[in-house]
Amino acid sequence: MPGMLIQVFKNLFSRPATRGYPYQPREPFRAARGTLMLDIDKCIVCGACEKACPAGAIEVKPKEHLYKYDPYSCIVCGNCVEACPTGCFEITSEWRKPVTEMRTMVWEVTRTKKRAERMA
Ligand code: SF4
Ligand code: SF4
Repeated sequence: MPGMLIQVFKNLFSRPATRGYPYQPREPFRAARGTLMLDIDKCIVCGACEKACPAGAIEVKPKEHLYKYDPYSCIVCGNCVEACPTGCFEITSEWRKPVTEMRTMVWEVTRTKKRAERMA
């Protein structure tokens, strides 16, 4: 019984064990793998990321100048970050925001980097 009373008083004067989400969202952990970001302007359409991707989330078609990335297949493993020779990728610790429609991202890219245009 005394042990229980001590615990009750401890709980009364200590910080709550839970967080008031969504008003107090938890900050992401440092180095957490949240979202893969792609700077398509740096892309030289080499296809190294497509070969390195275990989830088939990337499709590179140099002849058609097309680059496709499906963020909903991506498991944020980071293989493409290591494989890319021009540093196109970055993984941020922020989680991707919820969406109402899942869309593959498609860009038209040329090797000369003259055009990197989001198509869908
Ligand atoms: S992070 Fe992994 S799964 Fe996502 S696109 Fe890159 S290689 Fe593919
Ligand atoms: S994103 Fe990087 S690895 Fe992928 S095709 Fe472009 S330059 Fe090559």
